[in-house]
Amino acid sequence: MMTRKPIIAGNWKMYKTVQEAKDFAAGLLESLEKLENGTNAEMVICAPFTALAALKDELEESIIHIGAQNMYYETQGAYTGEISPLMLTELACTYVIIGHSERREYFKEDDALIAKKVKTALDFGLTPILCVGENLALREAGQALVFVQGQVENALRELSPEEIRKIVVAYEPIWAIGTGRTASPQDAQEMCAAIRATLARLAAEAAQEIRILYGGSVKASNIAELMDQPDIDGALVGGASLDFLGFTELIGSV
Ligand code: PGA
Repeated sequence: MMTRKPIIAGNWKMYKTVQEAKDFAAGLLESLEKLENGTNAEMVICAPFTALAALKDELEESIIHIGAQNMYYETQGAYTGEISPLMLTELACTYVIIGHSERREYFKEDDALIAKKVKTALDFGLTPILCVGENLALREAGQALVFVQGQVENALRELSPEEIRKIVVAYEPIWAIGTGRTASPQDAQEMCAAIRATLARLAAEAAQEIRILYGGSVKASNIAELMDQPDIDGALVGGASLDFLGFTELIGSV
């Protein structure tokens, strides 16, 4: 079986000022050095736009990758309040979260918009972390697999297999985000395997290489059992990424 390098990506959401981001970066670098067995994970911090320049200063030369949490799909133009991919690459971003459920829900992002953003991110050399996931009603109605597979297909349908090879998918059941209620490793595995099957339909050879993350109340105490699953290649971590000591502990458990 092919080995995929795990990814642990922190998603700070709307937390941390510039100063707090600087303090976190310095603290994280220092505490990672003290990790006894190091880590084999690729590490990413997805920060608010306003903290990205500070993170560039602190982390650009380090092993930690910088990511944004959203972007628009045009390079420039009259789009008040938006941020372009060019603005992100200038700030040393290499990752960008696309289609997080909070953006889908509160900012009405639909699959068509998300597909455009994924395409543009790839065009600018950014690795999109495409987020998908069902709500509780869909899970209880037994429609979660079909729904999430549809989200993946709608986001990637227009891309070439070579483009699809470069993306990262994050499966985040909405009912598990910020609730303390994690999906069971078996349920998460079932979904991640279904996502990989969908990827295989769109890009047969690439599917085994694509990293699929789980997200939703991941912490140091449950990361190992999630990562033990064959189709889970890492995690997108919200709350547990805000404190550098806790985040280091989580990374050390991978
Ligand atoms: P959580 O958030 O870890 O706080 O549940 C995950 C996410 O929304 O990416």
